[in-house]
Amino acid sequence: MSDCLFCKIISGEIPAKKIYEDGDMLAFHDVNPQAPLHFLLIPKRHIGNIMELEEGDAGLAGRLLFKAQELAVALGCGEKGARFVINCKTDGGQTVDHLHIHVLGGRPLAWPPG
Ligand code: AMP
Ligand code: ZN
Repeated sequence: MSDCLFCKIISGEIPAKKIYEDGDMLAFHDVNPQAPLHFLLIPKRHIGNIMELEEGDAGLAGRLLFKAQELAVALGCGEKGARFVINCKTDGGQTVDHLHIHVLGGRPLAWPPG
């Protein structure tokens, strides 16, 4: 999608500190980290939010979830854990309309969110 910030990161038009990339997905550090570790994992295909996932996307969604876990462990969160977050639309606090999983770790995180 031409005016999507994360699609521009995928295309290389906007730089990002990449962590992982394959044919389906990209992980990169959040520019405004809320924890010692805070990265985003996104599908390369533009999907606006989790509500736009279709049944045919189940494989992709599963691979994204598993990769989020793998990367969190690889980046040091295996023992103490991490927060895996998907914000959706206005009430969910989504600010970038391209599906993304936040992974936050490296400190204890409060619950519930505000
Ligand atoms: P959300 O509020 O769930 O839509 O999260 C969007 C996230 O994208 C926020 O945590 C932002 O800090 C992050 N973000 C915005 N622009 C960039 C960028 N250019 N590179 C990396 N992360 C970004
Ligand atoms: Zn996009």
